[in-house]
Amino acid sequence: MKVAVVGAGYAGLAAAVELAAASVRVEVFEASRVPGGRARAVEIDGFTVDNGQHILVGAYSETLRLMRAVGADPEALLRRTPLRFEFPGEFVMSAPRLPAPLHTALALLLAQGLDWREKLAAIRLMRGLQAAGFRVDPDLTVEAWLDRHRAPPRQRRFLWEPLCIAALNTPADRASAQVMANVLRDSLAGSRPASDMLLPQVDLSALFPQPAARFVERQGGAVRLGQRIGGVRREGRTWMADSAGPFDQVVLAVAPYHLAALAPELAARVAGFDWEPIVTSYFRYPPAVKLPQPMLGVDGGLTQWLFDRGTLCGQHGLIAAVISARGRHLDLPTTELEARIHGEIAALVPALPPPLAVQTITEKRATFACVPGLQRPGTDTGLPGLWLAGDYVAGDYPATLEGAVRSGVTAARRVLAG
Ligand SMILES: Cc1cc2nc3c(=O)[nH]c(=O)nc-3n(C[C@H](O)[C@H](O)[C@H](O)COP(=O)(O)OP(=O)(O)OC[C@H]3O[C@@H](n4cnc5c(N)ncnc54)[C@H](O)[C@@H]3O)c2cc1C
Repeated sequence: MKVAVVGAGYAGLAAAVELAAASVRVEVFEASRVPGGRARAVEIDGFTVDNGQHILVGAYSETLRLMRAVGADPEALLRRTPLRFEFPGEFVMSAPRLPAPLHTALALLLAQGLDWREKLAAIRLMRGLQAAGFRVDPDLTVEAWLDRHRAPPRQRRFLWEPLCIAALNTPADRASAQVMANVLRDSLAGSRPASDMLLPQVDLSALFPQPAARFVERQGGAVRLGQRIGGVRREGRTWMADSAGPFDQVVLAVAPYHLAALAPELAARVAGFDWEPIVTSYFRYPPAVKLPQPMLGVDGGLTQWLFDRGTLCGQHGLIAAVISARGRHLDLPTTELEARIHGEIAALVPALPPPLAVQTITEKRATFACVPGLQRPGTDTGLPGLWLAGDYVAGDYPATLEGAVRSGVTAARRVLAG
């Protein structure tokens, strides 16, 4: 059997690895010269960084499994730390190294910056979710769900709302409460390792896409970078990808907004999607500059999270500032945005010198808006031998690396069964 995979993001490469591991001859086509898609390495100012700073969590079981399968050791490439949310001077929550469910209960009970009433309310909220089997009304937004449970304001501001933006990249007043419940089920309410944060210590192409491509090639497959496919078409009982082929089956692992060009008959399935941006600004300071923690929350400003690339990746003095989802920051000229973010970093790092260089990357369509009742297409296109993979394909997760990888694994299994 010969299979084409179009797209070498995390979804396409997950599909390709599963297929290659099952001795299928697989050919991957990727438009860009760098594999990884929306999670890839970029070069700026002499540094290799990412198109956007990412975090993974211990619950990303399929991503971790496939990393191991291709020889990318998660223990070496990811910095594992117990879940820690810190907004300096306002809130600190850190999960102790205790077995579930004690780690979450104690993290909430010992959180600094919430009073007892708020802590107990947070524990009650988690207990209630658990008792309901993590099922909530599918039409509810996260905000409406918090209103329904009368979640106190500081608990929302420092816990649920930042968690919602970080995981769903959609503000609480528009985000799906059911998808948020799925995330909480597998992370905070999962085993203790599942709630750990995994911060990449290498760039996002080196984390999985490049080792995955090498694995596919070692198994006799091919990964063709810099090759954009214009369309796939059925010829008899086989498929062609432009002039490449024939292939017995094809996995389309592109973002929804690239699907229509490849297969116009599938365009209607992704017509209901809307997008949320993510802005990442990289500030290069003198090498001695560091944050008090590798990852810090910022309250009350434009910035949401700061990452110390010195502690994480050995890029000393490099700080990444992340602003997820839509907001007033998108209306600012880049230089003003960067000046405001620098001011917010300066409030957390005493005697911060001016940056030596700054670079801002705005991914306008970073993820789909994860709203209630969103109709996501399944793996099966209904056309024989043509399958979909990608973070947007129907599944429990919002647009994440794990959602992408799981969709790729599912597509590969359908190919193998087909
Ligand atoms: C800035 C940013 C921050 C994020 N932060 C996080 C985070 O912290 N944690 C997390 O889990 N997730 C995060 N995400 C989401 C995560 O990156 C995505 O969910 C995931 O990378 C999507 O993978 P994918 O394979 O489904 O799609 P993509 O990565 O979009 O891959 C599709 C690939 O198909 C290629 N392609 C398209 N058309 C063609 C064609 N015609 N021919 C050949 N190739 C084609 C594209 O070039 C691309 O490489 C973030 C995303 C962004 C942008």
